[in-house]
Amino acid sequence: MAYVTDPVGQIFLRLLFMLVVPLVFSALILGVVEIGDPRALGRIGGRTLVFILTVTTLAVTIGLIAVNVLQPGTGIPPEVTSTLMDASAERAGQIAAGGEQVSLVNLIINIVPRNPIASAANGDLIGIMFFSLMFGIAATVLQTAGTRSFVGAVQGVYDICLKLIGWVIALAPYAVTALLFTITAQLGLDVLVQLARYVGTVVLALAIHMFIVFPLLLRFFGGMSPLFFFRGAQPAILTAFSTSSSAASLPTTLKVAEENLGVPRRVARFVCTLGATANMNGTALFEGITVLFLAQFFGVELSLLQQGVILVLCMLGAIGAAGVPGGSLPVIAMILAMFGIPPEGIGLILGVDRFLDMCRTTVNVSGDLVGSVVVARYEAPQETLQTQA
Ligand code: ASP
Repeated sequence: MAYVTDPVGQIFLRLLFMLVVPLVFSALILGVVEIGDPRALGRIGGRTLVFILTVTTLAVTIGLIAVNVLQPGTGIPPEVTSTLMDASAERAGQIAAGGEQVSLVNLIINIVPRNPIASAANGDLIGIMFFSLMFGIAATVLQTAGTRSFVGAVQGVYDICLKLIGWVIALAPYAVTALLFTITAQLGLDVLVQLARYVGTVVLALAIHMFIVFPLLLRFFGGMSPLFFFRGAQPAILTAFSTSSSAASLPTTLKVAEENLGVPRRVARFVCTLGATANMNGTALFEGITVLFLAQFFGVELSLLQQGVILVLCMLGAIGAAGVPGGSLPVIAMILAMFGIPPEGIGLILGVDRFLDMCRTTVNVSGDLVGSVVVARYEAPQETLQTQA
């Protein structure tokens, strides 16, 4: 693990992350410029937003129903609790402290970066996205020789990134093996068994979203056969599962959307890039289950109205969470604190979080691809792949 699989996995992750900033910047500028007409931009943006809000709400609802029916937070033996909490007390404390700094107002303020270079350096994707969108809009409005040659250069950056992604993806089978080997070797099965009901509830709810909700959306709103979709989406699904990061998966997601699913480039660039941080169905569902699980565990009664508030918070939290491993944990800590549930309780689930992160990121990334297919169907029906039939 120390000399072979871990380094190989880390290098693969870094190669993917290395491409994220230039890719987000160029993809969004080109997405906006190619859409061209501000009205069309508003339409695609509006449809993307409607998709994100509706499907995320659906995801949290599935999570809340599952956790209410299966009640995984009751009846965990006290000795199991103390071993789990003691083992991760320090990290849980850090996350709880991080959660205090998250607030809804701050989430909104932070969309606008003070310094785009700093955002890029810190991996603050939302900041880079906002900057790139503004840049693209101005470049569309201002048609001068200078802006046109700039857009040409951005196109060059994007094409080079896609070429590089092609090379990195060629390494994926080895890297994914290495990453999964390391994770499985470190994870250990015993925690999974101790928290089996919680893990089972999350996985079941994620599976319902992935294999029932997505296929229905694809069939009825995307006009695409689910089988065709899952076959084409495979590289992105595998990358998401092995990296636990929507951001690291973005290069693969974009390539898959354009090349395997036939989503028109301008739609794919726009929806998938925004979706990588804003559209997180799996994360939303997971947040809902985890907050209620810990409430059940600590014996905090939540009324239906409070659960409704939690639903809205989880939805917003999924939009605000970063697309990195464990990105949603500070958001969960914030929600816990708001309802008087001890945020340190997160320590209870840290041992299994990596595994659940892999599963929820898979749903997050698949959701972005489903979104791009659905938006493309309405936006450019004639351009969407003929091969999909
Ligand atoms: N790891 C998730 C993602 O990147 C975010 C989270 O739920 O922690 O999509």
